[in-house]
Amino acid sequence: MSAINRQNTHIIPVDFQYHQPETVGEAVKLLEAHPDAKPIAGGTDLVPKMKQRLLEPGHLVNLKRIRELQGVEDRGGEVYIGAATKLRAVERSETVQRRLPLLYSCVRSIGSVQIRNMGTLGGNVCNASPAADGALGLVALDATVQVAGPGGTRTVKAGDFFAGPGKTVLGRGELVTGFTVPVPGPDVGTCFISVGRTALDISTISIAVALRMKGGAVQEARVALGSVAPTPLRLPEVENWLKGRELDEATVREAAGMVSGGIKPITDIRGTAEYRREAARGMAMEALTRAGGLEGRSQG
Ligand SMILES: Cc1cc2nc3c(=O)[nH]c(=O)nc-3n(C[C@H](O)[C@H](O)[C@H](O)COP(=O)(O)OP(=O)(O)OC[C@H]3O[C@@H](n4cnc5c(N)ncnc54)[C@H](O)[C@@H]3O)c2cc1C
Repeated sequence: MSAINRQNTHIIPVDFQYHQPETVGEAVKLLEAHPDAKPIAGGTDLVPKMKQRLLEPGHLVNLKRIRELQGVEDRGGEVYIGAATKLRAVERSETVQRRLPLLYSCVRSIGSVQIRNMGTLGGNVCNASPAADGALGLVALDATVQVAGPGGTRTVKAGDFFAGPGKTVLGRGELVTGFTVPVPGPDVGTCFISVGRTALDISTISIAVALRMKGGAVQEARVALGSVAPTPLRLPEVENWLKGRELDEATVREAAGMVSGGIKPITDIRGTAEYRREAARGMAMEALTRAGGLEGRSQG
């Protein structure tokens, strides 16, 4: 008898009921009524897991028809992005490109155009992979996650949303409806860098940096890394150390050393812990240099 191919198959070997609600309220009711239900947005994370039987939901609640979960809205000091907005729509949004260049870079690095045409920002965040590029951008930008559930709505800081690999703070019946992202001022430089085994592979390690600068000194710093901890990781010690310092080569070098020493990566199929710690040092140097405009420019 031949072994079942669980990796590369068109078959979803799971029995489930399929629901297509048209409002957030209907979706919440379905999720609350069926404890074994899972929301599905683009399915690019969920369906492969179902094919491999890593997840066997009894009910799938498709979010695609819920209009209130879609779109990008410029609200002045902040940008609102609906959870079921396709990654490709986020990437192509003129508002995101112009006002949130860091998030633009993060989203643009996800998979391929085909994946970004299917996948959503909400799915990227709720899948809760420590390697999720969109999630890292939202954490570095101090975004707020909007949640709807049986008890009404609530908000959670992106940095507090993750509870471990594949785990979030969402309770029974809750779903994410969108993200509120504060728009950085013109004095903020940002940079995102990721390293993967191939162009399509998820990141082996990634870093997102935002620096508010005044006359060559750091006023405020955000330093976040992906794939170096069970969740996307902010490094407050490094951020606080940078605050008020003149950003020159020595400062960058010392901060990069703190980044490398401040993470506790593991060895997995994508890279060793030693590689990640060394890569973190070099990536932090480059990201701080670019975000701080030491090369005469700042970029997303
Ligand atoms: C070939 C390939 C390459 C990839 N490359 C990358 C990469 O480079 N970087 C990267 O970050 N990711 C990558 N991914 C992962 C994936 O494409 C993204 O994470 C994508 O954004 C997931 O979105 P989705 O809409 O498809 O999520 P889905 O698969 O629909 O859902 C993912 C999880 O989130 C839950 N969920 C979805 N929406 C909500 C919501 N609104 N509220 C509550 N729960 C919700 C689902 O129940 C499920 O558990 C890749 C995937 C593939 C297949």
